[in-house]
Amino acid sequence: MAGKAQTVAKGKSPDWGDIYKELGAKPIINAIGSVTLLGGSTPVPEVKEAMERADSAYVPLWELEEKAGDFIARLVGVPAAYVTSGAGSALTLATAAFMAGEDDKKIEQLPDTTGMKNEILIQKRQRYWYDRCLQLAGAKLVEFGSAEKTTEADLEKAIGPKTVAVHYFMVSQNPDANALSLKNTIKIAKKYKLKVLVDSAGQIYPLNLLSEPVNMGADIACYAAKYMYAPQSTGFAFGTKESINALAKQSFIGYETRRVRGVGRPQKIDRQEIMGAVAAVQRWVTMDHEERLGSIESRSLAMLKPLKGLAGVNASLINNVVGQQPYGVQVTLDPKTAGLTSQQLVDALKAGDPPIWTRTGTDAGQTINLHIFGLNEGEELIVGNRIAQIVKKASAQK
Ligand SMILES: *Cc1c(COP(=O)(O)O)cnc(C)c1O
Repeated sequence: MAGKAQTVAKGKSPDWGDIYKELGAKPIINAIGSVTLLGGSTPVPEVKEAMERADSAYVPLWELEEKAGDFIARLVGVPAAYVTSGAGSALTLATAAFMAGEDDKKIEQLPDTTGMKNEILIQKRQRYWYDRCLQLAGAKLVEFGSAEKTTEADLEKAIGPKTVAVHYFMVSQNPDANALSLKNTIKIAKKYKLKVLVDSAGQIYPLNLLSEPVNMGADIACYAAKYMYAPQSTGFAFGTKESINALAKQSFIGYETRRVRGVGRPQKIDRQEIMGAVAAVQRWVTMDHEERLGSIESRSLAMLKPLKGLAGVNASLINNVVGQQPYGVQVTLDPKTAGLTSQQLVDALKAGDPPIWTRTGTDAGQTINLHIFGLNEGEELIVGNRIAQIVKKASAQK
């Protein structure tokens, strides 16, 4: 983790991306946000400093995980916590823990689930990109409800002798009125003595969202540390003491510490990453969030300014502060007037120098959401100006 702190001046610094260019890889300006494909996050100075200090000695990782978990759990207000190799790993380890408990024979048997309860219920409406992480330890996903709506009766009907847990995908910034709520999911799961797993990876602000699912009765809730400016290879499982103890037994460390070979072995993290994740949480729960949000809002407005009044361009501030990606700018184009479609704009931005990466949304490729998260100070202006330049040229040529 050597290297300079984030002293990037307005726009591009003189050595911007050089380390990648030396290898022949092409650095880009990231206007998408915290996405794994581009590197997830840039650890903040507090995190880098903690990681560097961690270099000074070795430490038994089993004990470090315990101490780090206790410290983080106190900071966020949950009974127990565990640092994992990303929220994706937390989801996998949690399903393994629900199926095998603390039974070493079962831990070593996974992903073969013969003789174990192995079904995890998931709302049909909530099938999503990351549910694959639930299957990795051998669990089977069973859908309940319809594509239109989920009711309490749908959940009760889906429960069978092999059901071990119910999964819930939490998105407070955009709640789904037709999904079964977390509250009702927990109510029914408890009645049938089932575990509840929550993917709340991006639910990091307001701060009460960090503890909400577990305090409501979920057994394990998973968070991504990439959104807190920790290395993107880290994440957290927050939960009850019992569930987190079982999850810890699935961890990569068990291979050597206990000579029990769990499924978590390939999901390894460094002591430096653990300390970086600790520092990221400590910063996150103590920092001035008004100041953070104010800065992101004003940078979003700076990006928006060159896009105002352009023919065929509808650009506005995204009015959201909940979750991992506050504010940002939403752009839609009228291809007839602007002279190009949203996808053509995305392609033109990528083809420029330096390349600017954006992407269209899931609404048939109409909307582009630009976020500040992955932009160095000043790059928001490069992005706004480049879009304006491309659209002006396209509309003049049509
Ligand atoms: C990013 C993300 C994940 C995966 O987290 P990693 O830390 O990258 O493994 C899972 N679920 C949601 C909702 C996410 O946003």
